[in-house]
Amino acid sequence: MSLAYDVIPVTIVTGFLGSGKSTLLADVLTGDAARDTALLVNEFGEVGLDHLLIGEIQTQTVLLDNGCICCAMRGELKDALTSLFSRRARGEVPPFSRVVLETTGLATPAPIVATLLGDRVVSSHYSIRAIVTVVDAVNAPQQRAAHPEWLAQVAAADRIVLSKADLADTPALEALERSLAQLNPAARIARRTHADDASIVLDPAATAHDFADFVRRTGAPRAGMRNDAPPLARLDAAPAHRERLASLDAFCVEFDEPVEWAVFTLWFTMLLARHGDGILRVKGLLALAGVPQPVVLHAVHHLVHPVLHLDAWPGQSGAEQSHAVPRSRLVFIARGLARDTVADSYRRLCRHLQTAETVR
Ligand SMILES: [Zn+2]
Repeated sequence: MSLAYDVIPVTIVTGFLGSGKSTLLADVLTGDAARDTALLVNEFGEVGLDHLLIGEIQTQTVLLDNGCICCAMRGELKDALTSLFSRRARGEVPPFSRVVLETTGLATPAPIVATLLGDRVVSSHYSIRAIVTVVDAVNAPQQRAAHPEWLAQVAAADRIVLSKADLADTPALEALERSLAQLNPAARIARRTHADDASIVLDPAATAHDFADFVRRTGAPRAGMRNDAPPLARLDAAPAHRERLASLDAFCVEFDEPVEWAVFTLWFTMLLARHGDGILRVKGLLALAGVPQPVVLHAVHHLVHPVLHLDAWPGQSGAEQSHAVPRSRLVFIARGLARDTVADSYRRLCRHLQTAETVR
């Protein structure tokens, strides 16, 4: 077996919560491209779902969950990359020729770049091909105002892909494009056209990763850090980033019974009306009563995306899992909202509707 590359190119795909990174990757990682790609998915929270949503792809997928890759899991990232490389060398995994690293929407890219460049073993096996940042055209102004991570992701990008451009009105979209160009003049900015997805993610024109330039753009010395601090140290996650993460909760709500679509939408609309400002992200798989296929739900703040129907429940193609009863699962990333509040509100609504039914 011959290996195509001695140094494996890595595309870092970042973008704030709900911007559509997984959707983009699901579209790109099909067929030969999937077989040729190792995918690292980082999720913030106790339940990883993105790797399921990306689907049953023929790719080597490593899930780094339960923490943020840019601050809490840098050691895990390094271990995952070195282990992937040695398993590939031993022929234990397909001889992929590229790595795609999907970060959580809350991560800042600079510390990830520092992990890739700063570790001698990792940097001898991998090189950064490009940083692709997906920007949500609808929620960008709100995310920019509330989350410094949004700006860090935009500042670090070689390519910026605008998602949901069709949902934004033209003047707002053009204003966003102008401000992105000012924030990061070096990046190529384009609205997402499905035709370009593969070339942007899988074979981006190699960007010369001028490290000094990257540090200048994204790693300006922080308060309290001396100007002559080593460049790699300047790329470490800011303490404020860890504090912000600590103020967020990620939790999963499961539903015992298949959900009635009408009841679910009523409940979910009420939940977002009441708590939407504090809900950064909801995504999940729903088992609808009477529907064998799962439905994928995505919401960011008050915006709920049209649901997607999957052909089958992920992870259930294997014979050993075919008896599992699919359960609806929603993963929330929120501030100031408890799991019990969410779960109780659904149960209360169901009880209320049952009572109303009986009375009638
Ligand atoms: Zn982090």
